[in-house]
Amino acid sequence: MFDKVLIANRGEIALRILRACKEMGISTVAVHSQVDRDLKHVRLADEAVCIGPNPSPQSYLNIPAIISAMEITDSVAVHPGYGFLAENADFAEQVQKSGFTFIGPDADVIRLMGDKVSAIAAMKKAGVPTVPGSNGSLPENGDRCIEIAREIGYPVIIKAAAGGGGRGMRVVHTEAALLNAISVTKSEAGAAFGDSTVYMEKFLQNPRHVEIQVMSDGQGNAIHLGDRDCSLQRRHQKVLEEAPAPGIPDDVRRDVQESCVQACIDIGYRGAGTFEFLYEDERFYFIEMNTRIQVEHPVTEMVTGVDLIKEQIRVCAGEKLSIRQEDVVIRGHAFECRINAEDPKTFFPCPGKVNNFHTPGGLGVRVDSHLYSGYTVPANYDSMIAKVITHAENREEALARMRVALSELIVDGIKTNIPLQEELVRDSAFAEGGVNIHYLEKKLGL
Ligand code: ADP
Repeated sequence: MFDKVLIANRGEIALRILRACKEMGISTVAVHSQVDRDLKHVRLADEAVCIGPNPSPQSYLNIPAIISAMEITDSVAVHPGYGFLAENADFAEQVQKSGFTFIGPDADVIRLMGDKVSAIAAMKKAGVPTVPGSNGSLPENGDRCIEIAREIGYPVIIKAAAGGGGRGMRVVHTEAALLNAISVTKSEAGAAFGDSTVYMEKFLQNPRHVEIQVMSDGQGNAIHLGDRDCSLQRRHQKVLEEAPAPGIPDDVRRDVQESCVQACIDIGYRGAGTFEFLYEDERFYFIEMNTRIQVEHPVTEMVTGVDLIKEQIRVCAGEKLSIRQEDVVIRGHAFECRINAEDPKTFFPCPGKVNNFHTPGGLGVRVDSHLYSGYTVPANYDSMIAKVITHAENREEALARMRVALSELIVDGIKTNIPLQEELVRDSAFAEGGVNIHYLEKKLGL
């Protein structure tokens, strides 16, 4: 096992990783920007290194500074968390070349899955269901593009192979608009991602977002840890997640889960990963793979009892998977509400000093947060300040538990989206289960 791990992240996930390392007897190194020296995990880590000024490109995205911090602290591995450098293949490669271990898959696997065209091709090969589409990048020939769209059927969506974060895509409803949409998306993709490759997919009108959690040791062993429904989104940002995804027929669920496991083995995947799907009319359609731990991993941990971060660290240290598929049993139901420092109506970020922070508790209640009373939320980073997670024997009880938990949560001094979350956990359509990805924006009148 690793002696010392450097945590190349901040906030709640850095604290989450720190806790896992401590439990495993691994020494920890926190790296932080200037404004972040008071972060909770920085205080709790064995060592801390300031890696630069507040803007992320100069600190959390500064590869040479992070690798230097590994050198001066004698760290042997780096955990990237999510966001920042977590899916940066060049970072993974440079870490490896410098003689350290990147806690995640190999750089080539990150690259393969980071390009959506190559990712879809790899998935099709493994038998993962994909969205009917162009099967690769769109040709230069306009007539051929028109034919492809006719075969798929309108509406279609043009997507950048290198796209991410909900950017670089355009929906097309009619043939008359097709060629212009392709050319605009291409030039936008070239400007934004340095790669103008685009492809075409059928545009699904009312899908849900359902994803499968996997863990693989890169030694031929892979398992899935069930699914999550993350359909409540605003501007492609997830707001409230749950596990398992409600109302999916057992055979449909089992088939897609097995195909994800097969895909992990085929691509030589190592670590924790998530296959994201759109789900409509009892069918799954792969959209992308996230080659890292995700924000919403706690709901899976609650229903499976598996510590995903510890298992991720173990397999990336070269150990074989410690869990067999038959040991993964889904027990009960879990929800996660993301708490953001933002205005609940306008969604503008609201950084500032938290005068009083009080967390809920009790059976089946978990709060992952780096906040403490007196902490100042800086303006420089993501506005998520806490995740409230509840678990119970069934969906109804887990939701009731979340209502109580949210009512106990106090974040004084800054505005938060707690009022929005309180409304969502009382929403009758959501309580029934299975709302689609447009539900939240429609409810908000967007
Ligand atoms: P990104 O990497 O930018 O997040 P994704 O491929 O994951 O891109 O797509 C982001 C979102 O765009 C999806 O969650 C979904 O809301 C929408 N979307 C993408 N592809 C389709 C599609 N074929 N049909 C309908 N919606 C889609």
